[in-house]
This record gives sequence, C-alpha cells and structure tokens, in this order.
Amino acid sequence: MGNNITALQGFKDIVPADIALWREVEECVREVVGRFQCVEIRLPILEASELFIRSIGEQTDIVEKEMYTFVDKKVTIRPEATASLLRAYIEHRLHLSNPVQRFFTIGPMFRHERPQKGRLRQFHQADVEFLGSDNARVDAELLAMGAMIFALLAIPIRLELNSLGCPVCRPPYRGVLVSFLQQRLDFLCEDCRRRSVTNPLRVLDCKKEKCRAQLDGAPALLDYLCEPCRVHFTQVRTCADGLGLDYHINTAMVRGLDYYVRTTFEFVTDELGSQAAVCAGGRYDGLIEMLGGGPVPGIGFALGLERTVLLLRKHRREAAPVRDLDLFIAALGDDAAARCFTLMHTLRTAGLRVNMGSGSLKSQMKQADRAGAPLVIICGENELAEGKVVLRDMATKQQEDVELQDNGILLRLRQLLER
Ligand SMILES: [Zn+2]
Ligand SMILES: [Zn+2]
Repeated sequence: MGNNITALQGFKDIVPADIALWREVEECVREVVGRFQCVEIRLPILEASELFIRSIGEQTDIVEKEMYTFVDKKVTIRPEATASLLRAYIEHRLHLSNPVQRFFTIGPMFRHERPQKGRLRQFHQADVEFLGSDNARVDAELLAMGAMIFALLAIPIRLELNSLGCPVCRPPYRGVLVSFLQQRLDFLCEDCRRRSVTNPLRVLDCKKEKCRAQLDGAPALLDYLCEPCRVHFTQVRTCADGLGLDYHINTAMVRGLDYYVRTTFEFVTDELGSQAAVCAGGRYDGLIEMLGGGPVPGIGFALGLERTVLLLRKHRREAAPVRDLDLFIAALGDDAAARCFTLMHTLRTAGLRVNMGSGSLKSQMKQADRAGAPLVIICGENELAEGKVVLRDMATKQQEDVELQDNGILLRLRQLLER
C-alpha cells in the first residue's frame, strides 16, 4: 500500500452523502427553467480549440492560461458551455424551426485553475441561453429566472448589474480608460500593467488592494454608452423593477469573456470567503454571427453548482432526510433466502426500492437500520414452512405476520409506505 492512486488535484468526487443537495439544486434548476420554456440540450465535452478561442477571446484568462488543450489535435475540453451550445445551435440549424428559442444544459466544465486556492479544475454548471431576441424584457426574464432559483432554494443572494455597451460605444470608452490607467501604471500590479494594453476593462476587475485603491474614480462605461445601449439598459432596469427584482448597479463588473455586450450580471455572495459570483452571465449579440450563424442575438448565464450546493448546505440546518430504501429483507437460511430473492425482484419490478441482507438476524437488523429502511421483512425457515413473513415497522417497532404471497405483500407494503 502507500501507493494508492488518488483523484487529480482540482478534481473532486461528489460522494453519495452529498448527492441529496446536488439533486436538490439540479431539480430546482430544471423546475425553474421549465417555467420559462427552456428545453434541455446535451453537448459533447470535447470541441475544436478554435471554437473557444474565437468566442471567448484570445486575451482572456480562460484562453491564455486555463484551457485544457490537446495541442497536437487542436481540441479543447470545454471551459464553458455557451460556445458549445451556440455551435450546436448553428450546426443543427435549430433556428429554422423557431428563431426564438431557450436552452439549458447541465454538466462539467474544465479549467486549469490553481487548486491551492481551492479552485476546482473540473466544476459543474447549469447553463441557460435565451436566443433570438434582443428585447430588454428577455434580459429581465433571465434575471428573474436566476433570482427565482435562489429564492426557491432559500439562498440569500445579491444581484449586480452592468452594461458593457457595444462595439460602437466600447472602443471610445476604452480609449478614455487606457489614458486613465496610463497615469497610474506604476502603482498597478503586474497583471494590470499588462492588461492595461491588452484588455484594459479587465483591470477594473482586479481584486488586489493596491489596484483597487488606484481605480477609485475610474471612468465608468455606463457614462459612455451610445444612445441605443443607454435606452436598452434603461429598459432592462424598468422591466426588472416591474418584476420587483432587487439589484445593484456595479460599474466595475466586466466579466472575463470578450463576447459580452450590453447587459451583464452576477449573483454574488460574501458567504464563501471572499466575494464570489455564484451565477453570472450577459448578452452576447453578434457572437452567433461570428461563429458562422445568422444575426441572432442572445443572452445567457452559467450557474455554478458547487457554490450553490455549498450555500444550500450553509442555509440548511440539516438536509432533508432522503429515503434510499423502502424495504429491507432479512432472510435466514438458504431456502428462505432463495424465496426472498424472487420476492425482492417482484417488488423492485413493481417500483419499490428493496435490498436484502446476509448473516445472522442481529447483523441483518443492523444492516436494515444503517440502510434507513422504514420497513423490514424477516423470513426464516419456520416462517417459510408456514407460508408467511414477519413485517416490521422500524419506526413503531410493531410487527405483523403477512402471508408469503408476492401480491399480498406488495399491497400491504404500499399501504404502509403511503402513510
Ligand atoms: Zn453601444
Ligand atoms: Zn491589479
């Protein structure tokens, strides 16, 4: 021993004890997206590297240093889902059946992050994309969907909202920002100095204290929006207000992807150490065209399942008890075990969750207890000879004899389980 193979750094098993919370989050997402007529799509994990380089942008953290790329094959394990989803949308010409469509997908994403900072290299996201409309009402709907998911899970969260403008108004703003940054270059961190040339908006996003201090009073893109972008953002706010959504404007929120235009947002929390985005997204009009599709606008978000599960656990005093098993069968002796084995199959076929034990009665009752089974059937050689079994209710400790007949047992079990 001493040479066991363990999971890779940044890769994590989701063990059975955690599954109840994961399922609860996933089922909540499915429930809520269904209310908004979002249909599921499942996508491959491996894509052409070019897809991500073209969509996410070359000067981004993801493309510069976080992608898992097989260099010889020019393929990449997806770092996010939007690009793959749009690739599938274009490839299957899904817009032909209906130009306005809504999709969601759930699955693992991969980025070469630093595991020592608690970052996972395989993480999971629920991804939602509303395609085909640039109406501000759609932006508000998507914000409402995110808020609804957290509300249903009873997780307190803060919604931050910004507009990143468009290819018309962003370049002039960029110029203003660059000259602001030029005057402060000596006081910025190394990353920010580099980015002030390659991707100046990202400097606004720096978390380092010394950079934050320099960025006080930095020009805000919101003040430089062109007229159509300004009108759109006002409409988004009006619609969101109309839905009673609570949000804060954050002019420093820039998101780490090049494809965003106009509305961008994050659902953030302070409860996971430093401030963290649990769900984030924005509008990406123009991206589908850039990937070879038509001029279809779109907006979407990715919800981090790990962080949502962590928050859900924090806000649950105890996880709702999950029943994995309806019935445990303790058979004693080979003949009884053989008979109970077919009974177990009949009950499973009928939809019950059943398992059998082995060993002494005492040991099997312990197994039943550990498995959390509410009901136990006990069948030894005597019971078998008399054509009956003992049915024990583990909560009340009451026992009754039931005739050893599959349908009769099934009926009685159903009665007891429905109580
Ligand atoms: Zn604009
Ligand atoms: Zn910095």
